[in-house]
Amino acid sequence: MALQFQTDVLLAPYTTLGLGGPARRFARVDSEAALLDVLSSPEADGPVLVFGGGSNLVVADEGFDGLAVHLGMRGIETLGEGRIRVRAGEPWDRVVDFAVERGWAGIECLAGIPGCAGATPIQNVGAYGQEVAQVITAVEAIDRSRGETVRLDPAACAFEYRDSRFKRERDQWIVTAVEFTLRPGGAPTVAYGELRRVLEGQGADVAGVREAVLGLRRRKSMVVDATDPDSRSVGSFFTNPVVSDDEARRVVEHAVRGRIVSAPGEVPRYEAGDGRTKFPAAWLIERAGISKGLRRGCVGVSSKHTLALINLGGGTTRALLELAREIRDRVEDEFGVRLVPEPRLVGVRF
Ligand SMILES: Cc1cc2nc3c(=O)[nH]c(=O)nc-3n(C[C@H](O)[C@H](O)[C@H](O)COP(=O)(O)OP(=O)(O)OC[C@H]3O[C@@H](n4cnc5c(N)ncnc54)[C@H](O)[C@@H]3O)c2cc1C
Repeated sequence: MALQFQTDVLLAPYTTLGLGGPARRFARVDSEAALLDVLSSPEADGPVLVFGGGSNLVVADEGFDGLAVHLGMRGIETLGEGRIRVRAGEPWDRVVDFAVERGWAGIECLAGIPGCAGATPIQNVGAYGQEVAQVITAVEAIDRSRGETVRLDPAACAFEYRDSRFKRERDQWIVTAVEFTLRPGGAPTVAYGELRRVLEGQGADVAGVREAVLGLRRRKSMVVDATDPDSRSVGSFFTNPVVSDDEARRVVEHAVRGRIVSAPGEVPRYEAGDGRTKFPAAWLIERAGISKGLRRGCVGVSSKHTLALINLGGGTTRALLELAREIRDRVEDEFGVRLVPEPRLVGVRF
């Protein structure tokens, strides 16, 4: 089939924020063969942006001066009991439902995360005590430097907290399919404090945990809902900062000196597992004086969650990023730690 390229396609409707100008060239692909054809066409000579659900994309108001490729290849293939191969454009929530319906444990806590399966390895999607790195057994990806599809084992993916090789080397890789190995009949993960409290004494199965997670997420507007303006976001705008011991001590000293807390023990922090310390970004933001529901014209902070920056309708990417910078700078002034954005920023500097 001849390749179909469109010109000047507005990207805003393809993003959960509803923001962003046009892509100079645009193509939708429904198969890996079509994707390879698109990539070898003259249209792909300049910058290329591949995307799925647009739920982690912040696109400049001026748009994207290159080729945007919307990945639409779908399908969940069962390879064996608990083992599935999922094509990149499959909606993630359908993958969770597929596993939960069969009583396979491993991704029940990741229910309600928008976007497509192919994007889950990019930032090692995680929530409520699970992350995809725990269940991914292989990633199939086009290596653009060699023009061929390769199969990467988990070690080669170099997963970290909200990060992976694919995110760090983003122009090199396009994920085409992901293989997950789940636990048939396995116990669900009830490790996250908030989830444990909700499920106390219930002996929930994977379906029960999925429901509880969806309930928690809805309360925070962390499920995309066209009728809920607080969900017009990219989810968390900033990652939780993970810092060295020395830096962690400095953050706590800042908080005590600035009288944000009266004793070091009042600053919430967790072992990041590699000798480093993780601070909850939402706490830092709130204590830096940014409240839920803060508005700056047509953009603001969700009324349910300080980490979610939202487009109230009629907003611009410029205004959203101004607000994000204001928050980043306030946190840096108060705590000496610089927040890093979680989503992919396209055509803008932060
Ligand atoms: C309301 C809400 C709640 C959220 N909650 C969470 C959460 O709990 N945990 C969490 O981790 N994230 C969360 N997110 C962020 C987001 O949903 C995830 O990062 C998701 O995996 C993005 O999928 P997508 O298909 O929408 O990616 P897109 O937004 O389309 O793309 C994101 C980035 O990945 C790249 N990319 C996408 N697909 C591919 C591919 N196949 N190959 C190579 N690169 C690719 C894009 O180029 C871009 O850089 C939330 C977002 C929203 C809006």
